[in-house]
Amino acid sequence: MRLLTIVLCFTFYRCTTHHTDTESSVKEISTNKVVQQLGVIDSVTLSALEIQMQNANLINVKWLNSDIEVDLRYSTTDNFLQQDVYGNFDNAYLEESTAKKLALAQHHLDQLKLGLRLKIWDAARPVSLQQKMWDALDVPANQKGRFVSNPKNHSLHNYGCAVDVTLIDTSGIELDMGTAFDQFDSLAQPKYEQILLLSGALSNKQITNRERLRAAMTTAGFYTISSEWWHFNSCTRAYAKLNFRLLN
Ligand SMILES: [Zn+2]
Repeated sequence: MRLLTIVLCFTFYRCTTHHTDTESSVKEISTNKVVQQLGVIDSVTLSALEIQMQNANLINVKWLNSDIEVDLRYSTTDNFLQQDVYGNFDNAYLEESTAKKLALAQHHLDQLKLGLRLKIWDAARPVSLQQKMWDALDVPANQKGRFVSNPKNHSLHNYGCAVDVTLIDTSGIELDMGTAFDQFDSLAQPKYEQILLLSGALSNKQITNRERLRAAMTTAGFYTISSEWWHFNSCTRAYAKLNFRLLN
């Protein structure tokens, strides 16, 4: 009886503490059968989004290295849309080889012995939710691409081949990278870093922190982009289209 009470309390706790976004397309499914079939032993419930990711054979990065921190910003209202897009889903999933590269990046950081860890802000993202983000943008259509990749073009996030990531220290505090996540101005764009450094808009420390993140990620096989310091791709769109499943 005591065990049953604990289980019921835990279930209630999860249901009341997770997001209750009714607009989200993510519906919580509570079924032990599915949980058992998927081999997940530490979850009472799985969101439909999580089931979709597991059915697509994507890998939860925590399965490879539980030291990697996950804080999906689109599963909160703390994002540029100020909307909870993911609902009751807060795990980072990636295509298998991409997830392995991420674990390797954490390994490279471990070797520095500075206590640095990766913190994931976004990983695999279905096209349907990218469309939702696109539609939610209250800017002229020709400006939307500044904020979200056009869902018609299928971002590498839609294949689980891109990750948005920063670094945290031993206290879990994010390193100063000069901008917040999804700050869409020149300060966030690596292509302007040297100019911004010379002008004093970015400090040496901020550039060094970005370079430390880039070194760990690129050594592990990721590619940078010129417009967002936090975004890393594991392959090209053409390669992903040929080799990996699109998350619809
Ligand atoms: Zn990204």
